[in-house]
Amino acid sequence: MDIRRNTGLFLGGNASLNATRLNDRNVSVRDARHKGQGVFANQDFLCGETVIIGLVDSEQTERTRYSVQVNWGSHVLMTSPAVLINHSCNPSTTVMNNRFGAYDFVASRDIYEDEELTFDYATTEFEIIAMKECLCGEPTCRKTPGGYGELTEDHPLKIHGLVSDYLRRARQTLIASTG
Ligand SMILES: [Zn+2]
Repeated sequence: MDIRRNTGLFLGGNASLNATRLNDRNVSVRDARHKGQGVFANQDFLCGETVIIGLVDSEQTERTRYSVQVNWGSHVLMTSPAVLINHSCNPSTTVMNNRFGAYDFVASRDIYEDEELTFDYATTEFEIIAMKECLCGEPTCRKTPGGYGELTEDHPLKIHGLVSDYLRRARQTLIASTG
């Protein structure tokens, strides 16, 4: 099924083109000092607003440094700007699976113009190979962040299910089976 074509009709146009326009208006790619490139807000956003719509460049069966995991054994390389969003242990956005087979990045708190946009890589990756050491500098930094599989059971992202659908489903199944 061509999901892109179906939702394109629903939105009355080319959905991926509209997503690109939204991304171009909302954010820009800039130098993020020691982290390399990063993605920054062009304007203020309220908590709950969609800031970036991730689009798929290619699908992969193996994890790479730049891929995001969308299911067990399923990874996608997103196009810019989504592929350039840096990790933070105290991120400004959370992921939501989107109609393109990638993720939307939704403000998890109010975000101000020129702030760097971040998400926690453990909300999509069961394991992390992209970082040996975290550079986020947040007081709550995990230093050597593992993936979702290494988050503690009481981690807020895990408790509130603010993670990829496949990880949330796995946890619900686990909870159901253990009572
Ligand atoms: Zn960190």
